[in-house]
Amino acid sequence: MSNIIQDIDIVDRNSENAMETVKTSKEENTGKTKKLYIESYGCQMNFADSEIVTSIMKENGYDTTSDFENADVVFLNTCSIREKAEQTVRNRLNHFNAVKKNKPNMTIGVLGCMAERLKDKLLEEEKIVDVVVGPDAYRDLPKLVESAEDGLKAVNTFLSREETYADISPVRLNSNGVTAFISIMRGCDNMCSFCVVPFTRGRERSRDPHSIVKEAQDLFNNGYKEVTLLGQNVDSYKWSADENNKAWLERKEKKGEEVEVINFANLLEMVATVSPELRVRFSTSHPKDITDEVLHTMKKYENICKYIHLPAQSGNSRVLDLMNRTYTREWYINRVDAIRNILGEECGISSDMIAGFCTETEDEHKETITLMDYVKYDFSYMFFYSERPGTLAAKKYADDIPLEVKKRRLQEIINNNRKFPYREISWTWVKCTRF
Ligand code: SF4
Repeated sequence: MSNIIQDIDIVDRNSENAMETVKTSKEENTGKTKKLYIESYGCQMNFADSEIVTSIMKENGYDTTSDFENADVVFLNTCSIREKAEQTVRNRLNHFNAVKKNKPNMTIGVLGCMAERLKDKLLEEEKIVDVVVGPDAYRDLPKLVESAEDGLKAVNTFLSREETYADISPVRLNSNGVTAFISIMRGCDNMCSFCVVPFTRGRERSRDPHSIVKEAQDLFNNGYKEVTLLGQNVDSYKWSADENNKAWLERKEKKGEEVEVINFANLLEMVATVSPELRVRFSTSHPKDITDEVLHTMKKYENICKYIHLPAQSGNSRVLDLMNRTYTREWYINRVDAIRNILGEECGISSDMIAGFCTETEDEHKETITLMDYVKYDFSYMFFYSERPGTLAAKKYADDIPLEVKKRRLQEIINNNRKFPYREISWTWVKCTRF
């Protein structure tokens, strides 16, 4: 089963897998004068971003290399979701330091969420770093690298309200030629109290659907069989021709302005009709946003895989409120019932669960277990709560559950999850690979 999950390769930002996965650039020689080595950590959104970064650098005179010792520029595209992920990057920088001693002209850049979180502080803390660039400033990279080559360290962590890189065709870095990820939106407006993402990735923006369909069509024409539509919260996708920022778009709607909107169900349909031979997946869904319209669209098209990653995080409504998840246990169960009613038992459902969130009682913890019993998840990413600096929870609540209690509750959740066979999701995978 673990192979199937790896094959599906949909990894949520909060998962341990997300932190441990590392992808590096491949060797490519098209006669360009300079070499780029890029190493990416974290979630699929980050890996998709590295493909955009590579595309930008290729346009500016770089081929990729799989050996950082041969690189003129080394980028680490980082994750901040947990302390361990950031420590991994710091250890890696120490490793590069030894090479840079013999190759002082090598430019080292830190990109992504850790760059956004720490900003110029990273330059002070890690002397080896020349360039610090947040997720919305990648178009600026060639200029910032040039500045670093002239001896000026450079930082751009400006968070955009519109950037979606819609016009940039990603260079597939770790492609198997069969499956590819398509980024459909950026940022997150949800402000879950345990999460750093709203601070590192900014406000929600949806990418032009026509550019998404074109990317899917190009992939299909090039022999790809499966695309996964990616976003922090895909069900919240909302685009109109003159506004891609969700908050601003909704402001217009509230004012009574007539706006023609494409939502996630519309987008899903547009991508599914590229070809019945192209499998379509998506991740991640937020329980507050997943609509019956999306579920009916999934049912209508056989090539949309019947699998939903629907992170619950907790089974107790009070804890969910503290987490600022904006739904209750009853709402979550209602969404699971809708999935079962519309898509049937064969639809795979997976989740994320956090044990030992601030002030969680034993009874509240047991409600997480009973929720798992109700849903019978095919798979879950399970963790105990660990506080991240700068989050709402770190500011508002005491991290007051002792570590041994958190660990014991996590183990109980893990043991409970083992009761359920992985039958449905395996079946979904078999079904979807029959093309
Ligand atoms: S939905 Fe919540 S957990 Fe997911 S990225 Fe947004 S703030 Fe973080």
